[in-house]
Amino acid sequence: MDKDCIFCRISSGKIPAKRIYENAGFFSIPDANPQTDGHSLVISRQHFKTALDIPASLGSELVDCIKNTSIKIMKEKNANGFNVIGNNFESAGQAVHHVHFHVIPRKKGDGFKVVG
Ligand code: AMP
Ligand code: ZN
Repeated sequence: MDKDCIFCRISSGKIPAKRIYENAGFFSIPDANPQTDGHSLVISRQHFKTALDIPASLGSELVDCIKNTSIKIMKEKNANGFNVIGNNFESAGQAVHHVHFHVIPRKKGDGFKVVG
């Protein structure tokens, strides 16, 4: 727990946020600045800086949280695809230094561009 970290504060419940899905290692919440309708974040409960810091033993919980979050928001938003994106380190655009994965629901012709 890093008291200055926004995702640690959400993880510990100090800042309230709607949980979409959660398990022992990860939880998901809506992104505050959604790129498409339903854009969500899968966040580790513990403070890990990047994906490189996630222990391999948490791999199945990470996959479980990504899958269930994606299924739930695709159903809720009537989307038929999704992107999973992780920005790691500043040069790759990481703004919050507590590991998270963007789950971005997609619809044909929604105009969202992953690259470029
Ligand atoms: P990045 O570190 O570039 O992968 O992006 C951080 C993401 O976290 C951005 O999409 C922000 O909109 C999102 N974000 C930052 N603070 C919050 C918050 N308090 N609740 C929900 N999403 C947030
Ligand atoms: Zn943190």
